[in-house]
Parts: sequence; C-alpha cells; structure tokens
Amino acid sequence: MIYLDHAATAPPSRAVLEAQWPYLTQVFANPSSAHGPGRAARAGLDAALAEIAGVLGCRPGEVVLTSGGTEADDLALLGVAAAAPRGRQVVTTAVEHPAVLETARALGAGALGEPFRVDEVGVDGDGVVDLAALAAVLTPATTICSVMLANNEVGAVQPVREVAALCRAVGVPLHVDAVQAPGQLGVRLDDLGADLLSVSAHKLGGPRGAGALAVRGAVPLAPVIHGGGQQRGRRSGTVDVAAAVGTAAALRLAEEGRAAGAPRLAALRDRLVAGVLYAVPGAVLTGPAVDARLADGSPARLPGHASFVFPGFGGEAVLLELEERGVVCSSGSACAADSDDASHVLLAMGLGADAARTAVRLALGPSTTPEEVEDVVRLLPEALAAAGGAALLPA
Ligand code: PLP
Repeated sequence: MIYLDHAATAPPSRAVLEAQWPYLTQVFANPSSAHGPGRAARAGLDAALAEIAGVLGCRPGEVVLTSGGTEADDLALLGVAAAAPRGRQVVTTAVEHPAVLETARALGAGALGEPFRVDEVGVDGDGVVDLAALAAVLTPATTICSVMLANNEVGAVQPVREVAALCRAVGVPLHVDAVQAPGQLGVRLDDLGADLLSVSAHKLGGPRGAGALAVRGAVPLAPVIHGGGQQRGRRSGTVDVAAAVGTAAALRLAEEGRAAGAPRLAALRDRLVAGVLYAVPGAVLTGPAVDARLADGSPARLPGHASFVFPGFGGEAVLLELEERGVVCSSGSACAADSDDASHVLLAMGLGADAARTAVRLALGPSTTPEEVEDVVRLLPEALAAAGGAALLPA
C-alpha cells in the first residue's frame, strides 16, 4: 500500500509507542493520587507537559491536554467566549476546519445565550486569508480571532504573524489551529504571536484521541468540561498519562525531524505535483503553487501537501481507482469523505460547486519514498482513465 493520507492521520510511530509503554502497563495510577504510584504517574505527566511546552514555546502550566484537535479548537473558542465575551463577536476565516467553523457558528446560533456575531473572512484563489478584510472586521471588542496555520484541504499556510500583529493592535486574543503543521512548520506561540494554539497527536504518529491546547496564562478561559477540577480546572477528567506521554513524544519527534524532514517532503511533493500536472494536463493544483512564498519569504504551501481537482470527474471515482492500484489517499478532508457536499474550502476559493466535488489530496509523510511518488505519478493517469477521465489526459 502507498499511504498518502497523512493529513487525515499518520501511521503510529514505534518510538511513540515505546515511550508510552511503561505508562500503559506499570505506571498506571491516577496522577492526582497522593501515594507513591500516583506520584510516579504525576512525574510522567509533568515531564510530558514540559516536553509539549518546549515544542509549543509556552510554560508547562499553559498546556491543557484534550481529546484531540477538535476538543482543543472547541475549548479555545467556547472557553474564551464564556470567560470574556466582550463584544460577542468571533472573527475567523471561511476555510477553517469544521472544529473551528462549526464552533463559531454554534456561538452565532446562541450556544452561550445571546448570539455572537460571526465574521468568516474570505480568502483568495489560493486559500489565503484576505488580511484587509480581516482588519476591517476586528475591533477592540472582538471576543476572539481564530485563524489556522495550515489548511488541511489545500495546504495553504496562512500569514499568521501578520494576523497576530492585527490582533495585537486591537488587543484581541488570537487562536491558531496548528493541527496540520508540526513537523512541517514551526508551531511556537511566541514565534507566531498566538495566544492559543491547538495540536493533535494522531497527525504525527501519536495516539488517536489526544491533543493539546496551549493557552497563554493571561488569557481568561472557562472550562467546557466540568468536573473534578483536574488540569487547573480548565479541563476536568482523570488525565490519560500515557496519551500525554505519547502526545509529547510525537510532538518532540516531529519538531526534531523538521529541519531535515520538511525540505525532503517539499522535494518529494514538487516531483509529485510536476509529475501529475505533466501526465494529466487537465488537472488543476489547488492551493498555493509549490514555489509560492508569503510576504515574509516563508513557503506558502505545506511541504508535504499536494491537492488537485479533476474538473468534470468525480473525485470519489478517482480515489476508488487509485485504491484499486494500491494508492490510499482522500478528497480534501476525511470528515467530508462520506458526504456529497462540495468542499467549503474550494468554494471559498472561488471554484464552482462541480469542480469542488472532484478534489483529491495526496498528503505525504516521513515514511513516503521517492519510489512511491514515481509509482503514483504513473498510476494516477491510469486511475483517472479508468474513472472516465480520459479527456483530461494528453491526446
Ligand atoms: N484542525 C485541523 C486543521 C485538522 O486537519 C483536524 C483534523 O482533521 C482537526 C482540527 C481535528 O483534529 P482531531 O482529528 O484531532 O480532532
């Protein structure tokens, strides 16, 4: 199998599993218990929090462990909105993951009493947020601004530092959904200028159902999950120490591997994109070009991310034909895989509804080899022809 669905989830990492093993077997006590075994679990938890904080550029006490990226995103928006509603306005972008977009919309529909105003700022044809439009809706009364670091469907990297400067100018807390970024981009709060930042372990070979929200100490945050007051009252429930250790190991390994791994991924992606566009002249790369740069000179596209539309042909049919040939990938988002809806990201980028239903995402990861990329370049035109897409191929 050629696995090109790393943006949906990554294969489990052996090193992460080995780091978790003692905490899944011997060190099993409740880290809130005062006895020796409890203190041993607490020590493992504290070490994990310190490791996560090291990668995210914050203090260990600023890390809230969650059940993954979705809960981290929900907690960021709902937690800030409940603690400091201010002018009851949420600013976000039209291309966020549903974990942010639907939470913002729930606030807009009155999830916390009087409805919030929600501004979903538009993007350009590459999926990059319109900074002028964002600046126009931010006010000193805005409750929270949430902008993703990198888009899961089209790989677009957002100019988060510039967004942070706009937010700072009006004193608005900035939440960054960085779930797609570790191992490919830096994810330090201090570098990005973020006040809150979400990560998820399973995108990095860590445990499924585990992640974290980093929250600057100065940002008021009300809990969403109430109970015994664990995690300084910000997220109750007995902490899963093994999941925390796994999240920490996955993040640390991703960050340690980034300097060598990101350029390697970019080179593989460049070959994949060039190969596909040559072999399938009718294909369209969605999101930023592979050599596009943000204003600060950094890459505008995630190194490991390639995404296409095949106008006129069902993306699902192409995916099935690719799988017949041993290539596993998905349309823009795993969450949308079982719905017929056109991608909200591609629609926001200005694609027509028909084209927005034909997305194919090829998401590379640390295990991807040059041989696999060559195989995909060879197999994709075959799969497309079998799916009825011969018109997109060279005559
Ligand atoms: N945010 C982004 C950008 C994602 O890609 C995902 C996962 O697909 C999530 C949030 C949700 O993360 P999780 O699967 O850990 O709930």
